[in-house]
Amino acid sequence: MKLVRLLANLGYGSRRDVAWMFREGRVTDVDGEVLYADDKLPHERILVDGEPLDPPTGLVLMMHKPLGVTCSRKDQGRVVYDLLPLRYRQRDPALSTVGRLDRDTSGLLLFTDDGALLHRIISPKAQVSKVYEATLAEDLRGDEGELFASGTLMLESETTPLAPARLEVLAPRQVRLSVTEGRYHQVRRMFAATGNRVETLCRVSVGGLAMDDMPAGMWRALVPTEIERIF
Ligand code: URA
Repeated sequence: MKLVRLLANLGYGSRRDVAWMFREGRVTDVDGEVLYADDKLPHERILVDGEPLDPPTGLVLMMHKPLGVTCSRKDQGRVVYDLLPLRYRQRDPALSTVGRLDRDTSGLLLFTDDGALLHRIISPKAQVSKVYEATLAEDLRGDEGELFASGTLMLESETTPLAPARLEVLAPRQVRLSVTEGRYHQVRRMFAATGNRVETLCRVSVGGLAMDDMPAGMWRALVPTEIERIF
């Protein structure tokens, strides 16, 4: 692929903007030689303003989603995409969230531009567990663990029961719940079905990938070994 198209696809700007970057000599190879719009070069040999080129397609980002932002591009308010640099929002193929977290849910959120990978992670068949920690408005009544594990819990307006989920009780109003599906408001609706209410909800892991001590609102690209850890 010609460099002008590669850089435009990576979100560095429109083709016109990117063409100017070449004219200004801002795109070089790793030895400092100025590159031209029509050149073709391996990704890892290209620098922009002396910095390595953003990763190619197949990118996976992990974000510590803060409270108060939504995952829908269409939302009028603040959305998770606003927390990424402009370049990452202009990539083609575009980055999408891997499933969604509610506005009032914080924690581990993945983004990728790889549609096949996205479906592998969210498909219930893949059995990738998503683990949430929740605080509840009321003390647990005692039978929730058994109910969630049974695979018989039917949420309102659904036609199939939930797959078995694993509940760990941390305190009378504090739990860790592991689910393999991603139904709409699933965790909140599971506790609502038991007469309780989720007050705070945080996703702490997806498969074998756990939220690290990254502050809320921060993000980083995953390395291949971390992506493998999801499965
Ligand atoms: N379950 C919910 O209820 N909300 C989330 O954001 C994620 C899982």
